[in-house]
Amino acid sequence: MSAPVYLDYNATTPVAPEVAEAMRPFLYEFYGNPSSSHTHGQRARQAVLDARRQVAALIGAMPEDIVFTGCATEANNIALLGVAAAIGARKRHLVISAVEHPAVMQPAFHLRQLGWEVSVVPVDRQGRVSPEDVAAALRPDTALVSIMHANNEVGTIQPVADIAALTRPRHILLHTDAAQSAGKIDVNVDALGVDLLTLAGHKFYATKGVGALYIHTGTPLRSITFGADQERGLRPGTENVPAIVGLGVAARLARERLPEATAHLRRLRDRLHSLLADTIPGLVLNGHPNERLPNTLHVSLPGVTGRMLLQAASSEVAASLGSACHSEHAAVSGVLAAMGVDAVRAAGAVRLSVGAMTSDEDLARAAAGLIAAWRQLNR
Ligand code: PLP
Repeated sequence: MSAPVYLDYNATTPVAPEVAEAMRPFLYEFYGNPSSSHTHGQRARQAVLDARRQVAALIGAMPEDIVFTGCATEANNIALLGVAAAIGARKRHLVISAVEHPAVMQPAFHLRQLGWEVSVVPVDRQGRVSPEDVAAALRPDTALVSIMHANNEVGTIQPVADIAALTRPRHILLHTDAAQSAGKIDVNVDALGVDLLTLAGHKFYATKGVGALYIHTGTPLRSITFGADQERGLRPGTENVPAIVGLGVAARLARERLPEATAHLRRLRDRLHSLLADTIPGLVLNGHPNERLPNTLHVSLPGVTGRMLLQAASSEVAASLGSACHSEHAAVSGVLAAMGVDAVRAAGAVRLSVGAMTSDEDLARAAAGLIAAWRQLNR
């Protein structure tokens, strides 16, 4: 029996063959430390420089504005805590949204414990922040606003550029966690108007354990970890050269393939939606109908819990609830709760996320598996 169809690309993606190929020589041949002055070191240093250029090109940034990190979580921590360390003596108010990933939520709450005030802006029923609510939250002592670009559960895309139009004139810094959007939709730091932007390799076909933080030149930011001077001292520690090389190639591929890739994802996702909606009366979409990641289908099915459904369909489909799970107890997703989704609908939700390697055959098999499981549970 073949492996279940993987529909969990928002959790992580497989590594693209081109990425793995590009990384290989940096495991076996060019294993030097980029800080070493000999040939091995120089080769590794050059590879990191090349990757910096490739990652910068993906988001319309300057290479010198990119800092490689160990993951998106680390990039978010450097952004929030690094800004706090730089300007926290003057300004100690932070604004985030109610649907941030824990990788923003938790550093924000850590700052609250250190005496910061944190305003949490609500979202509407489709998971969108309103710029008016952000405007209302801004204060003379607001140091930073951190609003994610796209949500990892429901895929809703936030009006980041409209928020930048509010923060820029007030000299308030703006960070966006683009871990889910980079590589899936166009992400341009100038168009978004952000000072800081996070991305994650393993969400767009590079490996786990590598990410990047874009830091607009001149953004006040202090180190939060201390060591040697790699990555301008903002992320000290010997660079993970193979992973960084892989991130660079993944960024290049994403940029080259973006329009076709987006269209491919949207077509597959919408087909999956039709297949399910045509047979399951009462199926509802969670998230924004249009302002949504092209690969993300977050739906609630009547008469089942998402957990039961995925269990019953587990031989055919590998997907997520998209909500926090604590051992066998399912907690209602904070994202769905923030969107005002009722408990029954939230319990019946599943997140189906397609990707570059999803085929039409996969999709048909996954839909059939989910429909059969739903029917079996509703008998
Ligand atoms: N931010 C968002 C929006 C995410 O979806 C994720 C991963 O799910 C992260 C941050 C954290 O990424 P990592 O686990 O690679 O640090």
